[in-house]
Amino acid sequence: MNPVIALVGRPNVGKSTLFNRLTRTRDALVADFAGLTRDRKYGNGALGDKTYTVIDTGGISGNEEGIEAAMAEQSLLAIDEADIVLFMVDGRSGLTAADEAIANHLRVNQKKTWLVVNKTDGLEEHSAAADFWQLGLGDPRPIAAAHGRNVTALIDEVLAPF
Ligand code: GDP
Ligand code: MG
Repeated sequence: MNPVIALVGRPNVGKSTLFNRLTRTRDALVADFAGLTRDRKYGNGALGDKTYTVIDTGGISGNEEGIEAAMAEQSLLAIDEADIVLFMVDGRSGLTAADEAIANHLRVNQKKTWLVVNKTDGLEEHSAAADFWQLGLGDPRPIAAAHGRNVTALIDEVLAPF
């Protein structure tokens, strides 16, 4: 069985962009408006001699109603299915209340969780990540999913125990 990596985070942080990079497809719809991926979406990828499965989700905001509630439900199901959770935040917008709400959920979850700070292209990595230490989910890992910055190194580390 492939290790399963779930991509979670609020809408628009770059989950589908990372999904596309990790699975080398254009299947996940990337958009400039929030919350386009309403269902869970599965893809496979490989790094070196290891293969993995990635789940893209629509995103959680922490206080949802209607369609947003359904999207959050998908995210929670993805977390249940995963061996590894990549919790994505946006290094350009900084920490938001929605990030804190999601972090509260992930902290009580038993899954191995990595805090991934996306969109750090053009930013100084350490200062972009600094804001997110307070989430209490460990070392924030700066990446740029759209450009591939630090992505291979991160996935290599994430897959190391598998
Ligand atoms: P999702 O809602 O979390 O799936 O986010 P998307 O993958 O749809 O991306 C939302 C927006 O962020 C799109 O306009 C992407 O092009 C943009 N984006 C994603 N990754 C990066 C990145 O590494 N750097 C920058 N500057 N923009 C990014
Ligand atoms: Mg998406």
